[in-house]
Amino acid sequence: MDFDSYIRDVKDFPKPGILFKDITPLLQDATAIKRASETLYDFVGNHEVDKVVGVDSRGFIFAPLLAYKLDAGFVPIRKKGKLPADKLSESYDLEYGTDTLEIHLDAIKPGEKVLVHDDVLATGGTAEAVCRLVENLGGLVVQCNFIIHLSFLQGEQKLNGYPIKSLLTY
Ligand code: AMP
Repeated sequence: MDFDSYIRDVKDFPKPGILFKDITPLLQDATAIKRASETLYDFVGNHEVDKVVGVDSRGFIFAPLLAYKLDAGFVPIRKKGKLPADKLSESYDLEYGTDTLEIHLDAIKPGEKVLVHDDVLATGGTAEAVCRLVENLGGLVVQCNFIIHLSFLQGEQKLNGYPIKSLLTY
């Protein structure tokens, strides 16, 4: 399927100079969202997965769908201040600014196999922080799985050693 035709480029959002990759056209098309979730699921192959970690907030769209298909749990990683219970924090650089991500301490048990999902891999700071949070809880990252990989930003260099999959690479 030509997923590219369902991605809308929005210039200068949320800041001047950023070309925002908007996935909402893909989400609102019944066939495209189905094919996208099936393909993201196929990327996992024979890997066993205990938890699917989704990144606040656009990672929350497909991560629970993947968890359902993989018979795994879903774990939200949220921006600072949103999770209510005891948590771990990790700060990171974004393509536009800096931020802090958090995970509940009881979200992942030592030795659990984890699939990380987000909408876009840009500079890799977000995904790197997510992998660190997972590993600090004793989890094992089996794959980092994205809709879009902006390869010209070389974010994969921050994810050395983790298998990366994406529906689209620009
Ligand atoms: P990064 O940490 O630079 O890899 O940025 C990844 C995070 O920022 C993801 O959670 C994306 O949702 C968001 N993001 C970064 N750049 C873009 C972009 N050009 N279009 C849409 N989302 C982006």
